[in-house]
Amino acid sequence: MPIDRTHPDDRRPFVVLIGLPGSGKGTQAARVADRYRIPHISTGDILRAAVRAGSPLGQQVAATLAAGGLVSDDLMTDLVRERLARPDARSGFVLDGFPRTVVQARALDEMLAATSPAPPPLIVILVAVADEAIVRRLSRRRVCASCGIPQSVSEDSEPLSEPCPYCGGSLVRREDDEPATVRRRLATYASFAGPITDFYRVRRYFASVDGLRHPDEVTAALCAQIEHFLGESSGGSDP
Ligand code: AMP
Repeated sequence: MPIDRTHPDDRRPFVVLIGLPGSGKGTQAARVADRYRIPHISTGDILRAAVRAGSPLGQQVAATLAAGGLVSDDLMTDLVRERLARPDARSGFVLDGFPRTVVQARALDEMLAATSPAPPPLIVILVAVADEAIVRRLSRRRVCASCGIPQSVSEDSEPLSEPCPYCGGSLVRREDDEPATVRRRLATYASFAGPITDFYRVRRYFASVDGLRHPDEVTAALCAQIEHFLGESSGGSDP
């Protein structure tokens, strides 16, 4: 993945957002991507699209996704390596959902190290939210079946009476947001969240933001942190 350092706006960051499912990191990743005009790379979205399309990848991972398990490190690493090799990811990206394991995190370091003798600094931000808040949030999360915009409904009721506020379509629950699957996803994630947070915590460009605040405040905190790291790094490499 050759890094494009000639772009006039070289203050574009290479960001990894980590956090539990339901921490709001997907929403935040999309906002950061917009702000810096860099691609938002969500491995969950890529895998769900593959399942919907019925591609060979989709057929391979469908059962794992439905059960809330983790797709293999090899498969995920290949998928992300391929995605990061695309031209739009050369001058920055926001990774959302990857890495999830230390093996994946090491693979990402190798991918970046292979780009140039001075790889871009990787900014890692943890969107911190307590478990109980996550279960509450995910039980209220719905996705519009027509426009695909995720949103939160006022009550955990099924079936739903509220239409999509953007297009009037019907709001549906993601299959893996069913309460039993949420609990399994959280348990799966928790067994990896500690090690991956520990892996990154010692880095110079690691920070944690409180994800329980209003989404606009979380975005402001994230962008302030990214600006701070961009200013500090001025093109240097992470240890
Ligand atoms: P997410 O939308 O990030 O919660 O991802 C949805 C599902 O995709 C997860 O529950 C996993 O089954 C799978 N998945 C996404 N990213 C990864 C990853 N980096 N490693 C393993 N499995 C993943």
